[in-house]
Amino acid sequence: TAIPTATISRLVTYLRILEGLETQEVGRTSSSDLAERAGVTAFQVRKDLAYFGRFGTRGMGYLVPVLKRELMRVLGLNRTWNVVIVGVGRLGQAIANYPAAGDYQFQYVGLFDVSPELIGHTVRHLTVQHVETLGQFVQTTPVDMGFLAVPPERAQDAAQTLVEAGIRGILNFAPTVIQPRTADRGDVADPGDEWRGVTIENVDFLAGMKRLAFYTLNPHLKSADLE
Ligand code: NAD
Repeated sequence: TAIPTATISRLVTYLRILEGLETQEVGRTSSSDLAERAGVTAFQVRKDLAYFGRFGTRGMGYLVPVLKRELMRVLGLNRTWNVVIVGVGRLGQAIANYPAAGDYQFQYVGLFDVSPELIGHTVRHLTVQHVETLGQFVQTTPVDMGFLAVPPERAQDAAQTLVEAGIRGILNFAPTVIQPRTADRGDVADPGDEWRGVTIENVDFLAGMKRLAFYTLNPHLKSADLE
């Protein structure tokens, strides 16, 4: 069965709460405690967790370290993810320098740009390379994810470069919709084939501002978002 994207978002929230509880040396929690801290219902918490198995004991709640470990496993955060950043301008450099990215073993292994002013320079102990060399780079360094921080009008092409290099996960910071297909190219027998199984996650800060404008004007229209 497919799992609602909102469930995955909430699992990330539950994990963050569990990490906070662990820091405070709280050993146990319950669906109602997690629900209150996450701003959802206890039923929602149980339903979200039930997609992945049974993690608690009836009447006893959950052991914080156990549930944390299980959620990390479910989310794939118990392994290392090799990440490249494509577009090393203002945002790309800020992401590269953001320290918490390493917490879950998201490991920056390469930085790529097109600008002669950046290529050859070092950002967070990595040398910026030309994006045209990404295909060669992946021959020697396995790359799981690409973070795209290029101008919106360059995003489709840059995404194509990532996908052609065999990278299956893209975190797109550009405020544009990436089409999961190759722009029509006569020389490719099945344009778009390399896009099979590619996941794109969009981080759109401008979209957040627009949603915020709507809800600030219309606070009574905000639903609890239950699924
Ligand atoms: P920027 O102009 O500072 O940096 C963009 C970089 O991408 C440049 O270094 C440029 O040389 C490089 N580039 C261009 N084409 C490329 C390609 N094909 N391959 C690799 N690199 C390429 O821009 P920015 O402010 O860092 O923003 C980057 C993206 O993130 C934009 O889409 C922007 O809308 C979005 N964004 C920026 C912010 C912010 O606060 N700066 C916030 C949210 C979203």
